[in-house]
Amino acid sequence: MKRILITGGAGFIGSHLCERLVNEGNDVICLDNFFTGSKDNIRHLLASNRFELVRHDVTKEFFAEVDQIYNLACPASPVHYQYNPIKTIKTSVIGTLNMLGLAKRCKATILQASTSEVYGEPQIHPQVESYWGNVNPIGIRSCYDEGKRCAETFVSDYHRQNGVDTRIIRIFNTYGPNMAENDGRVISNFIVQALTGEDITIYGDGSQTRSFCYVSDLVEGMIKMMNNPQKFVGPVNLGNPSERTIKNLAELVIELTNSNSKIIYKPLPSDDPTQRRPDITVAKRELGWEPKVDIREGLTKTIEYFEKKLCEENK
Ligand code: NAD
Ligand code: UDP
Repeated sequence: MKRILITGGAGFIGSHLCERLVNEGNDVICLDNFFTGSKDNIRHLLASNRFELVRHDVTKEFFAEVDQIYNLACPASPVHYQYNPIKTIKTSVIGTLNMLGLAKRCKATILQASTSEVYGEPQIHPQVESYWGNVNPIGIRSCYDEGKRCAETFVSDYHRQNGVDTRIIRIFNTYGPNMAENDGRVISNFIVQALTGEDITIYGDGSQTRSFCYVSDLVEGMIKMMNNPQKFVGPVNLGNPSERTIKNLAELVIELTNSNSKIIYKPLPSDDPTQRRPDITVAKRELGWEPKVDIREGLTKTIEYFEKKLCEENK
């Protein structure tokens, strides 16, 4: 049994992580300011005496005695992280600094949720961890991309300078139940549009690619990385290497929902990466990890989740 702090624990990925770690018998503190997260995601855990919910903003100091910290606090959808870009970069940079300070004092292991966005518009495909990326420092995605890059630097320097036990994971597009309906990310948008009969909005011509990982696979990788016996610090890519175009994803969602929705095309936002696929050789070698859930199975579970949610809302 460990005392585990999960920042951003009421969000999409955080809520799955909270559930898994509580079920494994750990004492879990879920810290969240509910900017994009929701109490609904963790409501079922509130009855457990191994689970504690704290409303707090990571940009402010936080004190607790813990053994492990998963630092996930940060809006992840472009719509949400661009809503207040200054707050986004503060959350990544100051939030991570606060959590590193806590890890240092408690001698806790800290895992930083970084992102494939550190590769920007990648000129190497698939993306390997040794690639330094191609990131616009002044664009509309920079608050997120550069915030996460700076957080990686902080984590690396706390490790080198202060001997803090750190881990960096670079998460590639992940999806599943508990994504917010208004999240703005492609999978939740397409499913909600398909289920409500609205037009499916493809940005650009839909030829851009992404590689989608189901959330249970990601959570397994995160826990393996946190607890890896050789204390491999990373960074490590965690994602599903099965790559597809956004157009193909739209067609798949229409097929699986049996929807009559039509595809429409909208302008591509600036700096939207053209292609993205993780090279997961390092994760396989260091963690013995690779994703297991195929896109049809993962999408079916996610569609069931949104069907239920939309149905409850219409009651
Ligand atoms: P999410 O938006 O559902 O979750 C983020 C959580 O952080 C929310 O609960 C939100 O309320 C909370 N939060 C935001 N700012 C905060 C602050 N200042 N203080 C306290 N809590 C705050 O997104 P997610 O998809 O669950 O992402 C979780 C983490 O994983 C993020 O750090 C994100 O950058 C990273 N990540 C996710 C993906 C993905 O595809 N889902 C990909 C790459 C990286
Ligand atoms: N996208 C789209 N329609 C939508 C939402 C997103 O075509 O309704 C596109 C978006 O432009 C991007 C891809 O889908 O090319 C993935 O977008 P998302 O916001 O999910 O993640 P990210 O761009 O951060 O990978």
